[in-house]
Amino acid sequence: MESCIFCKIVKGELPSSKVYEDVDVFAFLDIKPVNPGHTLVIPKKHYVNVHDMPDEMVGKVAIAAKKVADAILKIGAKGVNIGTNNGKDAGQVVFHAHTHVMPRYGNDKFSLWVGKEYDGDERQEVAEKIRQSLNP
Ligand code: 5GP
Ligand code: ZN
Repeated sequence: MESCIFCKIVKGELPSSKVYEDVDVFAFLDIKPVNPGHTLVIPKKHYVNVHDMPDEMVGKVAIAAKKVADAILKIGAKGVNIGTNNGKDAGQVVFHAHTHVMPRYGNDKFSLWVGKEYDGDERQEVAEKIRQSLNP
């Protein structure tokens, strides 16, 4: 896609700190890391987010993300968060699918989310809705 910054990074039209590449996948350091080594793993082909990707490509990106996560642990991270933001309301800012691989340390004060309680029967109700959505 012409105007996409991650497509430009894959093509070498914009600079990046590449850490991994294979036939389908490219991985490079996030420009604003939660911790040094925070990596973005992306399909070379343009997809908007995970919902737009064929399952096979979701698998390829996930496998590459695990490889990068293993490497990040080996160089000293104490843990790794792997995650994707899908859609504006979920915090997606760049609309070329990407998986964040984030090195973590016990005292890094970085917080992903805070859970809240369910109200009444809401937990059972939402579980049923998701089951029905999966198997209509
Ligand atoms: P999102 O919020 O869409 O999941 O995350 C997009 C990520 O892309 C952000 O963490 C942001 O720092 C990173 N990012 C945005 N523009 C660039 C760029 O030009 N180069 C690199 N390396 N990372 C970028
Ligand atoms: Zn793109």
